[in-house]
Amino acid sequence: MSEFKIARPGLIVFDMDGVLVNVHASYRETIRATVQHFTGLEVEHSFVQEYKNRGGFNNDWKLSQQICSDLGHTVEYSDVVEIFQRLFLGDDRTPGLIQKEIWLPTPGTLEALAKQSKLAVFTGRLQFEANLTLDRFQATHLFLPVVGEDNVTKPKPDPEGLLSAIAAHGNPSTIYLGDTLDDACAAKAANVPFVGIVSLTLEGRSTVVESLTANGAIAILPDINHLAGIFQ
Ligand SMILES: [Mg+2]
Repeated sequence: MSEFKIARPGLIVFDMDGVLVNVHASYRETIRATVQHFTGLEVEHSFVQEYKNRGGFNNDWKLSQQICSDLGHTVEYSDVVEIFQRLFLGDDRTPGLIQKEIWLPTPGTLEALAKQSKLAVFTGRLQFEANLTLDRFQATHLFLPVVGEDNVTKPKPDPEGLLSAIAAHGNPSTIYLGDTLDDACAAKAANVPFVGIVSLTLEGRSTVVESLTANGAIAILPDINHLAGIFQ
């Protein structure tokens, strides 16, 4: 653990995927399944990760459409959304991949943080999808507000959602936790210190660490259970 310390903020805003939730088998798998549906091709997780690392692909529908296009298949956006949502949320016959999400905070971690700071979420998910997951892991009561993609006019890397979460608490000192370049850029644009979460097992980890650091990350942690360690 580094010796780097910061004052405990009044508000901690969390990105969701890759920070609170491991989405390797849920969202990431849905991207792969959607691409396979339209192109017949199976892409590797690392191939998807490369797009995420580049930034600009916080929206998984847009990302799935772009990958299909890069593989030579032009697909209507609305068709991508329909298939993606069916695979992710499931239907009457098949359970969705959302069921495969893994909650990352260890028991008591968020509750301990919530004793000293307010907690909020700013995610690229639709708000109801964020709430589905928070409900499933009994964490809804810990976060206010939960700002989703449909609660903002401009998605990440625009800071609008982050700024609205901060304003909802009367502009306290704040940090933002995220795992992608778009998260870092949103924090930078909001003039909020950014802490990067980069799993020790992520493929291409050093590239992500470098890019988050170059875009203003004040610390990089392997997972959010290490967060309390950077507070004075
Ligand atoms: Mg994320």
